[in-house]
Amino acid sequence: MKQMSMFAALLAGLLAAGCGVQAAKKAPKVKNVILMIGDGMGPAQVYAGFTANGSPLNIMRCPFIGLTKTNSATRYTTDSAASGTAIATGTKTYNGAIGVDPDTLPVCSVLGYALRGGYAGGVVATSEVTHATPASFYAHQPDRNMGEAIAADLAHAGLTVAVGGGRNHLERRADGANYSDTLRAAGYRVAYTLDDLKRADGKTVALLADGHMPSVQGGRGNALPEATEAVLGLLKQSSGKGFFVMVEGSQIDFEAHANNAPGIAAEVIDFDRAVGVAQRFADENPGTLVVICADHETGGMTLPDGNFAEKRFDARFTSDYHTGVFVPLYAYGTGAEAFAGVYENTGIFERIMAAMGLGR
Ligand SMILES: [Zn+2]
Repeated sequence: MKQMSMFAALLAGLLAAGCGVQAAKKAPKVKNVILMIGDGMGPAQVYAGFTANGSPLNIMRCPFIGLTKTNSATRYTTDSAASGTAIATGTKTYNGAIGVDPDTLPVCSVLGYALRGGYAGGVVATSEVTHATPASFYAHQPDRNMGEAIAADLAHAGLTVAVGGGRNHLERRADGANYSDTLRAAGYRVAYTLDDLKRADGKTVALLADGHMPSVQGGRGNALPEATEAVLGLLKQSSGKGFFVMVEGSQIDFEAHANNAPGIAAEVIDFDRAVGVAQRFADENPGTLVVICADHETGGMTLPDGNFAEKRFDARFTSDYHTGVFVPLYAYGTGAEAFAGVYENTGIFERIMAAMGLGR
């Protein structure tokens, strides 16, 4: 007993010094990780979706709940690049940074570690696939506005699958390059429609819009839940070891910037349908962890009143930008208990790395 406690103290000391001690060599219990990010999804956004839905959201079936602190390395209020990078890489950085630290040096993401470890992996978004949140998982650029450079990173990142808008950044570029051709030469299918994506069975990049995909109110339909379903099937086939995928409800944030309360509710309900797809996959595939989080709150949204029977709520906004408050996290499936608590957004990276048995 005495020897064990001394060993534990030594290990704790090494870890505190940032020595990156490898965990004991036992097989990780989590095989697949589905990380879902509601961009701008604070508690009021979720509650607006719940009220408009008229019945409990899938998110509300998650047994373990957390709160994450979202500030960036330089600002009380983060942007999606700094928070995406914190969640993806465990490194706090400056607003605007994509997969780089405060000195603009590249930092590896959990997706990068998973791919190196023999897992399949990818990203799904309803924004441009080169937009800040998905880009933080595969690109390394000093500024989120470098869409063409981010697209070049995408073509060389070795992802199993990427889905979103942003065709222009790959194919209609100022430098005349065509990174869809680069991807095809590397053995990828480049899909331009949801049906094309559903038929895919190998490495695939699906570019479903020139820029961002439409909003739900603008006619996006079920593209996010259906793409999520297709991608989970594709990833399951792609590696016997398992996979990591990030699925973003990108446009909760867009509607919140516009202070469009019905639009926010519609985007949350759509994102929640994708959550339901992920939960069903977890139920059918033991060893699957589903984590639903947000990168920051947008709009300073509050709901002073509402009516459940009429699926109606009043909304007020204090901002047309992001706010600094805690955002909720929900976890479901194998290993979900590790996500309860209050912690930094970088703790999401740490917990997923530990769940998958990945080391830095
Ligand atoms: Zn935003």
